[in-house]
This record gives sequence, C-alpha cells and structure tokens, in this order.
Amino acid sequence: MVKRTSPDQPHTISKREFLEGCAAFGGVSAVMTALNGLDMGIASAAEVPPNLMGSPKKGSKVLILGAGLAGMTAAYELGLRGYDCKIIEARPFAGGRCQSSRAGFTTTTVDGEKRTCDFDEGQYFNHGPWRLPSFHHAVFHYIRKFGVPIEIMVQENDLGYVQYDNASGPLGGKRVRKREIKADMRGYTSELLAKLTNQGALDEQLTNRDREKLTDYLIREGFLDAKDLSYKGTIHRGITEFNAMGTIDPMGSSERPVNNVMSASKAFAFKEILQSGLGNSFQGVTTIDHPATMYQAVGGMDQIARGFERAVGEKITFDAEVLELKQSEDNVAVTYRDNKSGETRVENANFCITTIPLGILSKLKTDLSDQCKEAMVAPRKMTVGKLALQMNRRFWEEDDNIYGGSSTLGIPGHTVIYPSYGYCGKKGIIQSAYTFGRAAVVHGKLSMKQKVEQAIKRSERIHPGQFSKHYDNKAFSIDWHLTRFSEAGWAAWAPSDRAKHMPVLRAPQGRIYFAGDHVSGLPGWQVGAIESAWTQIEKIHARAMKA
Ligand SMILES: Cc1cc2nc3c(=O)[nH]c(=O)nc-3n(C[C@H](O)[C@H](O)[C@H](O)COP(=O)(O)OP(=O)(O)OC[C@H]3O[C@@H](n4cnc5c(N)ncnc54)[C@H](O)[C@@H]3O)c2cc1C
Repeated sequence: MVKRTSPDQPHTISKREFLEGCAAFGGVSAVMTALNGLDMGIASAAEVPPNLMGSPKKGSKVLILGAGLAGMTAAYELGLRGYDCKIIEARPFAGGRCQSSRAGFTTTTVDGEKRTCDFDEGQYFNHGPWRLPSFHHAVFHYIRKFGVPIEIMVQENDLGYVQYDNASGPLGGKRVRKREIKADMRGYTSELLAKLTNQGALDEQLTNRDREKLTDYLIREGFLDAKDLSYKGTIHRGITEFNAMGTIDPMGSSERPVNNVMSASKAFAFKEILQSGLGNSFQGVTTIDHPATMYQAVGGMDQIARGFERAVGEKITFDAEVLELKQSEDNVAVTYRDNKSGETRVENANFCITTIPLGILSKLKTDLSDQCKEAMVAPRKMTVGKLALQMNRRFWEEDDNIYGGSSTLGIPGHTVIYPSYGYCGKKGIIQSAYTFGRAAVVHGKLSMKQKVEQAIKRSERIHPGQFSKHYDNKAFSIDWHLTRFSEAGWAAWAPSDRAKHMPVLRAPQGRIYFAGDHVSGLPGWQVGAIESAWTQIEKIHARAMKA
C-alpha cells in the first residue's frame, strides 16, 4: 500500500502559476509531483478490484458512458457479476485518451479537422499516456489479467543534455550532459559540507562518531579525495576517451587519468555551475511518481486499451454521442446520436456510470442537480499539447550514446524525449514538444508546419544540425484541449474546489454515478480512471443487492 506524501507547498504564487511553471520546466512529471504537494496526488491504495459478493437480479442493466479505461473497467467487472452492461462511446474506437499514434491513426479536433498519422510501419508515438510507475497497481492488475506485454520506459537518463539559453555565466546557452552537472554539483556541495564538518562547524549538532560517518558518506557521495576532502572531478561525470583494450596513456593529456581505458572529462568550476542555476534542475532522489525506471506497453500504450477491448469490446456501441441524460426513480434514459447514420436513439437502464469528461458532460442536457452542475464546471480544463517527429537516423543513440530518457531546454514546453523502444534500429520517433498551460494554448494555435519548424529549430540547440538533417518529413501532433470528445488533457482541480465538489461527484446522483480520472485523487493518470470505476461499481452493486 502506498501512503500519501506531502512535500512542501509553495505559498507565494498562485496555484495556477505554480503548476504551469512546474510543467514548463519539468513536464507533466513536475506537475504531477506538484499536484501531489497540493494534496491532489498519489493515492493508489487499492491493488485489486472490489470483491463484489452475490449476483444482482437477472437483467440488471448498467449503461456506461465512455469506453475509456474507467468505462471499460466498470463494464468488465460488473459483467463478471452478471450485470447487463452496455457502453456508449462517441469515438469510433475504444480507449478514450489511452491512444498511440501510428500509421493510419486519426484524431479529430473540435473544429472537425482530421489529423492522420503517417509514421513508417513499426514507428509509434504515445501522444497520451506514456509511462507507468510500478506502484500503479490497478493498471498492472489489468496488464497481467489481459496479458499486455510491457517493457521499461527510461524516464531518467543522465546522458541526456540540459541547455538553458538564459543561464548566466559560461554555461549559459551551452549544452552539457545532465550527469556532468549532477556530479559536479554534488561533488562541490559534498566538499563544502565535509570541510565545514572537519573544521568543527557541526560540533554542536553531531557527535564525533556521527561527524566521521557523515564525512565518510560525503567522500563517497561526492567522489571526494579522502586526503584533503576536495572535489577534483570524477570519471563518473563523463569521459573524454575510452578504449577497452587499454591503449590510453594513463599519464596522458587528460586532467585526471583514472586508468588506461578511460580518461575523465574536466569538472566545471563550482562558481560557473552556481551562476548558471543548472544544478537546480535536478534532485538526488527521483520523485515517487517518476522513478528513473518506469514502464510502457510494448508497441504503444494503447495496447492496454486493446487488452480491455478484447474483454468487453462486444458491449461497446461506437460512434454513439451522448446528448441527453434523464432519470426517474427507477430508470435512467440516455439519448445518443449514431454519428454514422445521424439517427437519435434512447437507451434505458437501472443505473448509469458516466465517464464523459466533465467539461463535455456539463454542456449536455441533463436533469442533474444544480449542485452537481456547479461541481462539473469547477475544475480547470488542462491545456496540453504534444508533437513528435520521425527521424531517418537515430543520431541520439549513434552519436550521443543516449538510449531513452530526455534532454531539457529552458523553453517552456520544449523537451526532447527519446523513444524507449526500437533501440539501434534505423529510424525513430522523437517527442519534441510537451506543452502545458499557456504554452499549450500558444502551441495549439500554430499550424503543423510552424510546429515542426519551431521544434526543429529549438531541438537543434541540443543536437546541432541533426534535426534538420534527419527529419523524415513525418510528424504528428495533438492538442488535447482542442481534441473532440476530450477537450482537455485532464481536469485540474484547485484544492478548495476539490474539497467542495468532489464529495458531490463521488456520491450517487440519483441513479447516475460518476467515474473517470477526474473524480479520482489522480487526474491525469490511468490508475485514477481505473480506481474511480472500482469505487463506483462497489456502490452500485451494494445498492442493487439491496433492491
Ligand atoms: C498528454 C497526456 C499524458 C498522460 N500521461 C499519462 C501517463 O504517462 N500515465 C498514465 O497512467 N496516464 C497518463 N495520462 C492520463 C490517462 O490518459 C487518463 O487518466 C485515462 O486515460 C483516463 O481514462 P478515463 O476513462 O477516465 O477517461 P477517457 O479516456 O477520457 O474516457 C472518456 C470517454 O468518454 C468518451 N466521450 C466523450 N464525450 C462523449 C459523449 N458525448 N458521448 C459518449 N462518449 C463520450 C470519450 O471518447 C472517451 O472514450 C495522460 C493523459 C494525457 C492527455
């Protein structure tokens, strides 16, 4: 069981500015960590679905609105108990936001613009969910159940670069390996602390024995010279030469030859690193929800959706756009339009679970209470965009030894994310933009041509000359806030709104129940979608058993 964590909360800027700032620098990971700090985060306590005891009356019918992971979870689990479940889905495919773009995949914007992916066979891009930490038990439960193969997704790779145009001093505008900054920053701070400890600065706080232990730790942590406690650089920050056959002259030109196989690169000066602020981009310990090693479904994250679809696909009516929800004491009536034929139909059921994004549901005709209507419009619709480019050579692997992970630019929304699949192949898909908040709004207004040009220009700061040379003229971009049947990346709750409205949304609204990541403690995570369904089906079953 994972316990809720509560890191320090910022208090001098608004939540909105804070989250957007986090997104700009750390991508969705930083936002999620921040949400966690704002008490909206980690809450994966349930590891398996609820054990629903007994069977409902024959013919008990549940209408489920939306065939995302929340809707399909509900249909699967209730179906096992004997409920007659039917899913009404507006899109022509199952999975909701759990999508991957590969050749032929089409997404439609709210304006009706169709964006079709034309990547080469075997290439794909996770333009929605793309990573899973291992403690998201609910997702792993279905990965196992539906036999979805998974593989490692490299979240942290110290060989990636960091480049900040606005960094001060000699490191400003220079691309440097993350590992160099991390090693030097830790080395110098360890040196300072070790020397201060040795000079008696901590005599009041620590015993002799503790001081010795601390010094030993700092020597190891900072790769310090044990004799004078200084940091002189380390081979582990990076090497300039490597020859496995040992022909490098150990007394050769490099500053600090370690052996005759490798020679160490030169450490930056402490002042330079401090001036640049680059050291502040990293933490010694990865955040709980973004460990260095994460997981992804082999062949695309949408394979998780395909797993669900294999189990409940026959219960789904596609291209069926819900228009209206009405209920009486013993019935829910859902009106939807068959978007293929244009016909309008009505379905009746004993219960209804809606997973339709709140921003969309709030615009439909319903007889939900005013309190509920107020709750549905309370969260902000998170603006999120992504762009990926197909490259005809994996130069980041061949030339820079980068296999997965990312490089970071000091431009909001611009991160170069390397694929964690297809290593050593010929071509590859690089994610070149991941925008949030205002940056996503601006990015979403660009034409595809402008997006690509901008991404290539910016990414060349990390890989000079390579992006323009190897761009394969194939790109795919999504702006979730402009995407039909999503209209947002996820729901962004302010803590006060969440406290006020969540109890309403989690309570039965007559015979209608709300599920989806937006009613979970983790909007923007698949685990939230699944656990929301688990919570609501338990309530429905308890009620059905009493009836
Ligand atoms: C950019 C991005 C990155 C993400 N990264 C991660 C990640 O790394 N890891 C992770 O675990 N999660 C991630 N997520 C979150 C994850 O995608 C969601 O939490 C999850 O897919 C939500 O599932 P859901 O069933 O609650 O909602 P949805 O998948 O949105 O399902 C709702 C369904 O309702 C349907 N619908 C809408 N309107 C109507 C209508 N009028 N009538 C009928 N049907 C309708 C939709 O078509 C959709 O199928 C990310 C999401 C985004 C956008």
